[in-house]
Amino acid sequence: MARDQYTFTDPAALYADIQPRSQHQPEPGLDADLAPRADLGEETYRGTGRLTGRKALVTGADSGIGAATVIAFAREGADVVLSYLPEEEEDAQRIVRIAEGSGAKAVAVPGDLRDRDYARELVARTVEELGGIDILVNNAGKQVYNEEISTLPDEQIDATLATNVSAMFWITKEAVPHLPAGASVINTTSIQAYSPSPVLVDYATTKAAINAFTKALAQQLAPRGIRVNAVAPGPIWTPLQVSDGQPQDKIAEFGESTPLGRMGQPAELAPAYVFLASAESSYVLGETLNVNGGMVSP
Ligand code: NAD
Ligand code: MG
Repeated sequence: MARDQYTFTDPAALYADIQPRSQHQPEPGLDADLAPRADLGEETYRGTGRLTGRKALVTGADSGIGAATVIAFAREGADVVLSYLPEEEEDAQRIVRIAEGSGAKAVAVPGDLRDRDYARELVARTVEELGGIDILVNNAGKQVYNEEISTLPDEQIDATLATNVSAMFWITKEAVPHLPAGASVINTTSIQAYSPSPVLVDYATTKAAINAFTKALAQQLAPRGIRVNAVAPGPIWTPLQVSDGQPQDKIAEFGESTPLGRMGQPAELAPAYVFLASAESSYVLGETLNVNGGMVSP
């Protein structure tokens, strides 16, 4: 039998065949050009009906963690709307085909989340295309390293805050009136929220904001039966990391300092999103689920 996410295996030895390699892609980067290729669960994620009939909107859905989440959601029985940047069409179309391959409806809606009208329109499109929305995954993110705050461009500060934080507010505001009791909002935060790198001041700030947003909103929406949670990845092999997410002279050691001693793959994140989306996590709210190779977090 081929391996799936339930196969008993040594997590320290897993993915020894996918080692990080320095390279450079222009932002936003493509999974199609990542070498070696990341595991999005294409061959390994096995659905068991955990999200049957559900309707999901996922941002940053073309590649990395968002794409692995779309594949998992589709195989668990959900229909999905995918948000991503127009430059990422190639990656997005591949994920749409994989999702459709499991019988799901998958709808591609490209656009720039810094554009408030696009962010709002996304929710209306989801409701129109899927007949409603009961899972919202705010996962899109911008990460560009900078060594020295006095040279951090104002445009970058604005773009990072808009992509990672403002868009999350705009989409969530628009979505909440449509969300039924039982719905789930899941935000992608980061180990950077607690353990910020000196070269990621703007990015780490947004991830701490996402944690606070998650915990505050979870309390506000709990009486309405809407659960809000976050997933905090550690070092994961995605295009974000090779499109100025960090200096490439460090990439050979990417993930080595985690207790497991390796970087993670997007496929290892997807089950966390499935758990938080599904009714099996009915008593889990305002939680940050760390998926980070064992790094200690508060
Ligand atoms: P990724 O590059 O595959 O995904 C990020 C996505 O964000 C892009 O695919 C793009 O579609 C989207 N995006 C960026 N700017 C956008 C904009 N202006 N408009 C619309 N979409 C935009 O990388 P990933 O690592 O899978 O990132 C997903 C999330 O995981 C991000 O929030 C990131 O901060 C977070 N994260 C990643 C890591 C890691 O090590 N890779 C660690 C912690 C947290
Ligand atoms: Mg992408």
